[in-house]
Amino acid sequence: MSNPASPELAFTTLKPSPRMPVLFMGHGSPMNAIEDNAYHRSWQALGAEFGHKWPKPQLIVCVSAHWLTDGWHLTAMAKPKTIHDFGGFPKALFDQQYPAPGAPAAAREISQWIRQPNTGEPLGLDLDNWGLDHGAWSVLKPMFPRADIPVIQLSMDYSRPASEHLAVGQQLKALRHWGVLIVCSGNVVHNLRSLQPDAAPHQAFEWALAFDQAITRQLESGQPQEVQNFKNLGEVAQQSHPSVEHFLPMLYAAGAVDADEKPVFFNTDYAMASIAMRSVVWG
Ligand code: ZN
Repeated sequence: MSNPASPELAFTTLKPSPRMPVLFMGHGSPMNAIEDNAYHRSWQALGAEFGHKWPKPQLIVCVSAHWLTDGWHLTAMAKPKTIHDFGGFPKALFDQQYPAPGAPAAAREISQWIRQPNTGEPLGLDLDNWGLDHGAWSVLKPMFPRADIPVIQLSMDYSRPASEHLAVGQQLKALRHWGVLIVCSGNVVHNLRSLQPDAAPHQAFEWALAFDQAITRQLESGQPQEVQNFKNLGEVAQQSHPSVEHFLPMLYAAGAVDADEKPVFFNTDYAMASIAMRSVVWG
């Protein structure tokens, strides 16, 4: 069931649209951006559905595990730079550029519409600091290689509780009726200390399987907002997320979908036994 665009909500920079999907992308290694592997190919195939199954997005708003700030901010520069926020990878990865334009006017409008849940203030606008980090461009470049859809990144205030991340996601929901594709990029399980380089894609630690399955059940339950209570899963949550930045993007996705939207899962395997690549499409 699709709600019409809120009558009091009117953007001058965006046009009303059929409801756009919400994506949670398990991004894993930055190398997935350039390797011809199953993840990369799945992202290419997903991107190819826009213009067919769904309209081509007017704008992408991306929440990445890799942009953590005090308060919540939107990138608002005309030409966001490609950020190579990793070390120890081949030059070919550092040579990657994703020259998608920004959308300064839309960022200003959205910043007024979405309020910081703890203060009620508009979102901050980032004009010259951030750009597109690898959580964003490593998945967007395979999906939309022409780089012709404007991209805005939304940061996460890591100091704030899960309920507030979900609350920002709930405010993103309205944008789906304005041609905006919401892309949340993280991982359902992300423990870099436990990586097992020789593990096969179907192999994972018990705690990784348990957490991944518990989150999957919550997403399938018709109450996706339940994922905000992920820490209640206890020890398996601790082991799956020694730090939680890769899980938090899921809360934005869960907030931006309606309870009756069925999740469709893909890339449901694991990288090196301690990274769940599980990805989700709603809508
Ligand atoms: Zn990452």
